[in-house]
Amino acid sequence: MLEYPKHLDEVKVYKPGKPIEEVQRELGLKEVVKLASNENPFGCSLFVKKAIEKEALHINRYPDGGAFYLREELSKFLEVPKEQIIFGNGSNEIIDMIARVFLDPNSEALMFEGSFVVYEIVSKIAGASVKKVPLECDFSRNLENLLRNITDKTKVIFIDNPCNPTGFANKKEEFDEFIKNLPENVLLVLDEAYFEYAKGHGVPDGINYVNPINPNIPKKNIIVLRTFSKAYGLAGLRIGYGIASKKIIEILEKVRQPFNVNYLAQVAAVEALKDQAFVKFSVEQNEVGKEQLYEGLERKGYTFAPTYGNFIMFKVNDAQEVYNNLLRKGVIVRPAFGFPDYLRVSIGTKEENKKFLQALDTVC
Ligand code: PMP
Repeated sequence: MLEYPKHLDEVKVYKPGKPIEEVQRELGLKEVVKLASNENPFGCSLFVKKAIEKEALHINRYPDGGAFYLREELSKFLEVPKEQIIFGNGSNEIIDMIARVFLDPNSEALMFEGSFVVYEIVSKIAGASVKKVPLECDFSRNLENLLRNITDKTKVIFIDNPCNPTGFANKKEEFDEFIKNLPENVLLVLDEAYFEYAKGHGVPDGINYVNPINPNIPKKNIIVLRTFSKAYGLAGLRIGYGIASKKIIEILEKVRQPFNVNYLAQVAAVEALKDQAFVKFSVEQNEVGKEQLYEGLERKGYTFAPTYGNFIMFKVNDAQEVYNNLLRKGVIVRPAFGFPDYLRVSIGTKEENKKFLQALDTVC
């Protein structure tokens, strides 16, 4: 019999949002709206489209494993030295690399309940135990509580700020205090996948903890994760990045596959960075869509969690039934992992949000 590590029996397979084509095929629907994977509903920058058209025929060559041009561009944009950046096939891949490098069956990964589901999956694949710190009843997260739960076995702490799926984010002052008290032997993974949406709302910029300029903030072991999948609109190309000390990046580089980020993703990311007007537009429209959904959900009497991201978690009577009924109406949302009475809807265009709210009227 083929043997495999028994701890894999504990690992649940990640269930992504259903693709539009699958719902069209299975339910025989023409018009389907996907509000399930926190993608950018406004597409991506026109600079990206042009560059991909131009470069599409160059895919016979392997990409530059070191992502030279993108590294230069991002380093300038973030004001971070080039050797402090690692690129991944989506930030998901970097989360996976971190678990492979820093976790093992003798260690523990610490996170809040209801965090991005991939943290638990990768930690368990590495054989580590997973400790989840409960949320407060309003879904807020007490960072001091997280500190109290650190043990000798804790090697990695995962925090998504904002959190997917609750939309909650801890403020800069809370993080400043938390970082001061973070033990030296623990790696903090500060996942800022939704940074562009949350920026300016009192949340920290994690890069200031990686390279502290404030003398009151000590330098600790931190990796900040960001992605081109959300506000930049490149989810289909799979590209994200991590920023950490030169030493942490050097260690992670050992497990990075040689050509993990494909050529078109690198080309697209360079162009996407140049078009900050598109990012600004996307973030502004997200605020408009957020108000539309808040107002619609409120009017219908739904309880929902205020969000710092491009998605909203709302309470329903029977999540599975409402999810299925919305699908039949051509609206794909997502179960909110860890919150059985809730669904998560991504903030879409005005029309998409309207279709979702109208469908919700008829399915409950
Ligand atoms: N972190 C969080 C909190 C997320 O919600 C997601 C995407 N759902 C990711 C990381 C991964 O994003 P990607 O791999 O597309 O960069």
